[in-house]
Amino acid sequence: MTETATQREPIKASEIDPKFKYELSRMHGGEKILNCFQCGTCTSDCPVARFSDTYRPRTLIHMAKLGLKERVLNSDTLWLCAACFTCTDRCPQGVEVASVIRILRNLAAEKGFAPQVFKDQAASILESGYAYKIPTLRITKRETQGLPPLPKSNPEKIRKALKGVKFLENTEKEGKQNDQ
Ligand code: SF4
Ligand code: SF4
Repeated sequence: MTETATQREPIKASEIDPKFKYELSRMHGGEKILNCFQCGTCTSDCPVARFSDTYRPRTLIHMAKLGLKERVLNSDTLWLCAACFTCTDRCPQGVEVASVIRILRNLAAEKGFAPQVFKDQAASILESGYAYKIPTLRITKRETQGLPPLPKSNPEKIRKALKGVKFLENTEKEGKQNDQ
């Protein structure tokens, strides 16, 4: 198995947060994390791991259980999960692996560790209601092909519905700072 640089670095006792696994086990979807006995079934059945030298759900679960909070939340591979839930279906210990990964992503996003591409998407949704800026050329092409205009979005309503989501609040703040 090839590991990422972060996974290869020696672990320092100071970076271990022994309470982290208990925090995760109190969150919806993380209840069974303590049951993981590192059998590796999640990794062996994961369709992403099959094509990646670095993505290993078992490793993410192990890091979380060890209390390597900052390390796992900073891990680039966290964002490779396709949320197919195969791991959850196959885990013999009932660990909801995909849900734990979702929790880890949420925590990472709250801390601003989300990849730039997701931050850009979030900023676009907050601004225009669309996940990405629709190129003018595409809009014109729709017209020439007789297609109806794209549905009108309501970013104001979206912002209201998502009020309190820290990742989006941070994204909005970052956007305002960049505009200054
Ligand atoms: S399949 Fe379940 S028990 Fe096995 S390593 Fe993955 S999470 Fe742990
Ligand atoms: S949910 Fe993610 S970790 Fe689990 S099998 Fe699918 S891609 Fe792999």
